[in-house]
Amino acid sequence: MLPAVKNSKIIIFDLDGTIWNWTELIDGAKTVVEKLREKDKRIYFVSNNPILSREGVAKKLTQMGIKTSPESVLLSSTSAAKYFKKNEINKVYLIGEQGVVEELSKQGIKIDDDAKHILISVDRNFNIWKLKNAYDLVERGAKVYTTGICKYWEINSHKNRLPAELPIIRALQAMMDVKVRNLGKPSEAMRNYVMNEIKPFPEDVVMIGDSVNMDIIFANRCGFRSVLFVKDKKNLEEVNKLKGDEKPSAVITSLYDLITGY
Ligand SMILES: [Mg+2]
Repeated sequence: MLPAVKNSKIIIFDLDGTIWNWTELIDGAKTVVEKLREKDKRIYFVSNNPILSREGVAKKLTQMGIKTSPESVLLSSTSAAKYFKKNEINKVYLIGEQGVVEELSKQGIKIDDDAKHILISVDRNFNIWKLKNAYDLVERGAKVYTTGICKYWEINSHKNRLPAELPIIRALQAMMDVKVRNLGKPSEAMRNYVMNEIKPFPEDVVMIGDSVNMDIIFANRCGFRSVLFVKDKKNLEEVNKLKGDEKPSAVITSLYDLITGY
């Protein structure tokens, strides 16, 4: 077993690109999670995926063969909802989907076309009128937040990609100079949310993810061990050059590497 994993009691996995490509599990995901559970490791999934609620993600993982409870799923949409609640923001204009609607609603946050705060997320029904409304609100002083800073996400392993938050943020920024605050990985808001929820000793935790920008920086800033999952071996040379918050504690090229020798 990889030392970073062996020495940890809590294992956090990213979802997209690490456990699944939305419609299919990544090779080894089910076996690895099962083996780690046999070793009494506590498993969590920490994701910026905003399509489903925590319950929705748990159900989808369970249906795909990885039995999961909503409590072990921590999402950037919940991080955003908790951030709004803590800062007494009770109304937002949402460019996003049902999963975010549900997480906002659990914290008592209402969705309104006329609000002083805008939350941008993945939205498969994004259109020019939603962009116009966001523009109009910012013109009147609204602040903008996002559940993530991802360019796209993979629907399957055949480079079938769906635009994520960044293209929507860039569309708004093409119209005006506006700052957008990320409340998902690797933000401080997400760190506060995850630390409060899991309440770990950071030295007990390892996080595995496929994104340096999101997962590795997030894990390192939390004080966790960090494992970068690199699927294309051509990128390994680049990975060796990473420094500071971007430097992972370990690198794997297959999920099975986590449990080698188990
Ligand atoms: Mg990922």
